[in-house]
Amino acid sequence: MTRENDRERLINVLSRSNRVHRESVLEAMGAVPRHTFVPESHAEQAYHDRPLPIGHGQTISAPHMVAIMTDRLALSPEDRVLEIGTGCGYHAAVVAEIVDTTVYSVEYVPELAESAQRQLDRLGYDVSVRAGDGHEGWPEHAPYDAAYLTCATPELPDPIIEQIAPGGQIVAPVGTGQQQLLIAEKEADGSLSRTTNGYVRFVPMRGEE
Ligand code: SAH
Repeated sequence: MTRENDRERLINVLSRSNRVHRESVLEAMGAVPRHTFVPESHAEQAYHDRPLPIGHGQTISAPHMVAIMTDRLALSPEDRVLEIGTGCGYHAAVVAEIVDTTVYSVEYVPELAESAQRQLDRLGYDVSVRAGDGHEGWPEHAPYDAAYLTCATPELPDPIIEQIAPGGQIVAPVGTGQQQLLIAEKEADGSLSRTTNGYVRFVPMRGEE
């Protein structure tokens, strides 16, 4: 079995699950070599639909979760996207397959930010990674059309809401203990309309609330 076959099989499973609605998301997931983002010791499991450790006590989400989150961002090619929690860079690569703009991503652990940037550069993905606390977002490149968090927060940080353009989407695991996947759209008046998309389990967001 080659990695490509394994990947294709995973995409077929995701496609049949009916939880991913956009073809562009499945195509992006089919294009990104997940096995090159995870530690060598776990490369064999890269195309199983499960989370994997990436070092520093952090985990990369299961592929179906990356697919669902990316799907709910409702991305168009021209969209400007902010990610909080780069991790190994896999999810950012999936987003970079869909948009034509630079993807901006903030990572708390400097070593992860550095190795993710290196891997994304190696594969030619247009992703810019900053080491820092994602509670601040990344104001220099705002406004964004979409933002997502890959770490759980009790509440969406205000700076992130502020950095989203009206009509933009935010997807984030929200809650302490029990977390739910929040899907929010910013209205013209600056308020958020919120829906949730089931219970999830993400590492907690670190740093200053
Ligand atoms: N999208 C990632 C998943 C990373 S797991 C991937 O595809 O690999 C969540 C990440 O959020 C971890 O790397 C963790 O270090 C990071 N994180 C936690 N708190 C953060 C914060 N305040 N700001 C930015 N990143 C944070």
